[in-house]
Amino acid sequence: MAQDWDVIVVGAGPAGSTLSAFLGARGLRTLLLDRDRFPRRKPCGEFMSPEALATLDRSGALPKVEALPHRRLFGHEIWSYDGSHLRGDYAPFGKYRPFRPYGMAVQRLLLDHALLKHAATFPSVTVREGFRVEDLILRGGRVQGVRGVGDRGPETFFAPLTVGADGIHSIVARRLGLTEPDRSLCKCAMVAYFRGMEIGDHGEVHLTESGYFAMAPVDADLVNINFIVDQSKMREVNGDAEGFYRRHLMDVPRLAARLRNAVQVGKVATTGPLARRNRGTVAPGAMLVGDSTEFVDPVTGEGIFLAVRSAEIAAGVIPGALAVADPDAPTLAEYHRLRGLEFGERLNSCRIVQRYLYRPWITNWVVRTLGAKPWLADRIIGMSGDYIPPAAVFNLPFILSVLNPFTRRRGTAEPARAIGS
Ligand SMILES: Cc1cc2nc3c(=O)[nH]c(=O)nc-3n(C[C@H](O)[C@H](O)[C@H](O)COP(=O)(O)OP(=O)(O)OC[C@H]3O[C@@H](n4cnc5c(N)ncnc54)[C@H](O)[C@@H]3O)c2cc1C
Repeated sequence: MAQDWDVIVVGAGPAGSTLSAFLGARGLRTLLLDRDRFPRRKPCGEFMSPEALATLDRSGALPKVEALPHRRLFGHEIWSYDGSHLRGDYAPFGKYRPFRPYGMAVQRLLLDHALLKHAATFPSVTVREGFRVEDLILRGGRVQGVRGVGDRGPETFFAPLTVGADGIHSIVARRLGLTEPDRSLCKCAMVAYFRGMEIGDHGEVHLTESGYFAMAPVDADLVNINFIVDQSKMREVNGDAEGFYRRHLMDVPRLAARLRNAVQVGKVATTGPLARRNRGTVAPGAMLVGDSTEFVDPVTGEGIFLAVRSAEIAAGVIPGALAVADPDAPTLAEYHRLRGLEFGERLNSCRIVQRYLYRPWITNWVVRTLGAKPWLADRIIGMSGDYIPPAAVFNLPFILSVLNPFTRRRGTAEPARAIGS
């Protein structure tokens, strides 16, 4: 059978385009397919952690991303249900240092297009936009390629390896039975832009009884405000997403006050339900990267990091997998193992954080306490910035420091800088 490609990548979001760039740098013949035409809008909080920037740097894309309109964010602020507040910076902690002391917020409309164009600069990478993959070609239990429809009508492509980078509703993952809905964390999201509101150089999260608002400035004057809400609440939308979103936004007095002179730009985009969990990331002739593997509540803003970093891990394994005639179990399983090693603890911590986040009394206490101990808040924010491993945060000394009312920052006699509630 003619193998026109070494690798077919389905989906040109951050995962697929970054993978294609890494494969292109190794000279692998890569076909990158996406059903959309770029630039295209993608509902997202649009914030990238410092470690996501590190991966983009290694892929060669970072200078192109930095050339886009964007904002640097030096950490995050969280307002809890009762108004308690904490602020954390991307500060070094021991041997853990952020790639840059900031993350970056940039419109996905621009970011995804820049990553796609970067992938296309490699001579061995071919991009086909407007091509929807409809099914996998499975023979003898192996994935041998994809079939789908584009401008030229139905087409079939063959390769020894197909990578699903096609997002949360991945056809590749579903067809291989590698994903299932995670009913314990079913959230939906509504995203809109505003101009003319005050916002500093930190991302913001505002927890409310009906969900939470996450905010990030994405250029000099444009602010992304996304509302994450339980799927059960979406019944109240009743065909009026704009009204539902605005009602809940204006219900938060501190946001309503800041939005008094702001103008909404464009319509509210709605997406969800969001939670899926995986039952594996590889199959004979196939692997998954990015959201196609699993998706967690975006409160910790790590989806893009997980997407680009999983692509980088996959790119490290793929050349070895292609060196054997049929890339299957042992070599591809190495990707699953490496990915688990790097992300397993992080994803479990995200799930724990998300579970307790929706219990107001716990979150109020944690935010109030960490608000008064900003050097400990920095550590939580550093973990969400993907450069401090969860084990360096969720341990006995950290918990004792949180609980001890007399804890001071190590090496200083200064009392805690209180900015809470
Ligand atoms: C409301 C919200 C806020 C978020 N905020 C943040 C944040 O602030 N920071 C952060 O890091 N993460 C955030 N995330 C998560 C982040 O958006 C995702 O983790 C990220 O987009 C994953 O990238 P990906 O490349 O895996 O998938 P995607 O970005 O979803 O890309 C998948 C691509 O596959 C294509 N595709 C799908 N099906 C097919 C098909 N059949 N054929 C061909 N192409 C196909 C799609 O067109 C798409 O271009 C947020 C998510 C949501 C919903």
